[in-house]
Amino acid sequence: MRTIYRYTILCSIVLFSISFAHGQQLKAGAAIRIITPNPLLPVSGGVGTPNPVKEKQGELYVRALVLEKGATRVAIVSVDNLGWTSILGNRSRALIKGIPAGNILIGATHTHSAPDAYAFPDEKGQAHADLGYLDWCTKQMADAVNEAITKLAPATIKTAVGETKGKISYNYYAPELFDPRCGVIQAIAASGADKGKPIATLVNYAVHPEVIGPDRGILSPDLCGPLYSRIEAKVGGVALFLNSAQGGMVTADNRVGHEGKEANDWNECKRIGELLADEALQIIDGAKEQTDPALYCTSRKLSFPVESPLMKYILHNSPLKSAANSEDSVSTQLNLLNIGTAQVLTVPGEALPNIGYYVKRNMHTRQPFLFGLTNDAFGYMLTKVDFGSFKRYDYVSRTSLGELTGEIYISAALKLVNESPAADK
Ligand SMILES: [Zn+2]
Repeated sequence: MRTIYRYTILCSIVLFSISFAHGQQLKAGAAIRIITPNPLLPVSGGVGTPNPVKEKQGELYVRALVLEKGATRVAIVSVDNLGWTSILGNRSRALIKGIPAGNILIGATHTHSAPDAYAFPDEKGQAHADLGYLDWCTKQMADAVNEAITKLAPATIKTAVGETKGKISYNYYAPELFDPRCGVIQAIAASGADKGKPIATLVNYAVHPEVIGPDRGILSPDLCGPLYSRIEAKVGGVALFLNSAQGGMVTADNRVGHEGKEANDWNECKRIGELLADEALQIIDGAKEQTDPALYCTSRKLSFPVESPLMKYILHNSPLKSAANSEDSVSTQLNLLNIGTAQVLTVPGEALPNIGYYVKRNMHTRQPFLFGLTNDAFGYMLTKVDFGSFKRYDYVSRTSLGELTGEIYISAALKLVNESPAADK
């Protein structure tokens, strides 16, 4: 009798703790906005005056995925642009209702065929960006997230990391030195008419979307456009692309033949974008559905000294100013996110692939995700050993904040990992 009694009490305690820790249903919602300027605007692939365009191929988007569990709500946003500073991101954060600013992750896809969002100054210190367009984009971004919140519905999650096969990316400086791993997060409706169908599929992969680039008179999301279309045609829901550690110089593999020739058109964007979409869907296909995943999000402030004369010049002359940044120092938001068995770290720039490998290896998960160019995009991030080394690294060293950027990032990122809970086992 007593044994049974004790057993009952024990069961009640266990059941109570299960319901306390796991009783809250994960919810997911997603929404998009088109941000193609009308009329079209010049496009920017980096520092300098943007180039005029005559046509567009595909549309530019803001894409938002909101996840909620219990009191935790997180937004993951991607924007088809070269880089999206926190000056713009914070305008959207201020307009988003019901998610703390620190739980809103905003990543740029790094397409090289979208309007200038840095307001880069030219040699005379004049900027040519359309500040009205950028402000409109910040409202579209907030609208997309706010809509995704209204669509929150019970969901399960699938997460996976696997190697892609086929001609997608390579390292322009040293062909084999890139990370072929692709991370995929899929939120799946757990009830209602769409039960079992994806609400959103997020693809995390390192590549420069610069097949078309800024010099062809074309505005385009580059390979990201066909990636979205392919995923949405095949499985439905909203597709998102978050770049990874693609600095120095992991780019789209559009090589043709052996004489340095490249395919630079929309057809090549389709070939690569659709291939990456197919690979991503293959990677997530066999993943186990997680019906009760943990959702954890934390953020830290991260500051970097500015040593590069070019970066000082941009910070001094760009009309997009932030009280948090000066010519000598910039600061940004660093995020760590656990979604079930996956762990995500953000990178506020273009980390070189060796930094990506090192950080991923030290994360507390078997499914590491790095969201590159997220919350800010402060140029290339090299280790101090790589900085100013090979002649090949002249450009990426000049367009880096300074020699210690990579080191500061690595130590802050690993400290955050060590002080945060691990992903689900
Ligand atoms: Zn780049």
